[in-house]
Amino acid sequence: MNDGATSRKATCPQCGRQFTYDSANEPSWHPFCRRRCQWIDLGQWFSGEHRISKDLLADDEHED
Ligand SMILES: [Zn+2]
Repeated sequence: MNDGATSRKATCPQCGRQFTYDSANEPSWHPFCRRRCQWIDLGQWFSGEHRISKDLLADDEHED
């Protein structure tokens, strides 16, 4: 069936969807199921939903 293929199952940490990926050809947005989910996760960081980062970066501010 899967001659040589290394298909693996994973659960997207963003949307919770189960998906399969080829471990020999891992997508750049791994471990998310698709690039959009990676963007959503990054967007949450940038929009401050993960507030911890704000304190961690407090002494390393950059001008906008
Ligand atoms: Zn997803």
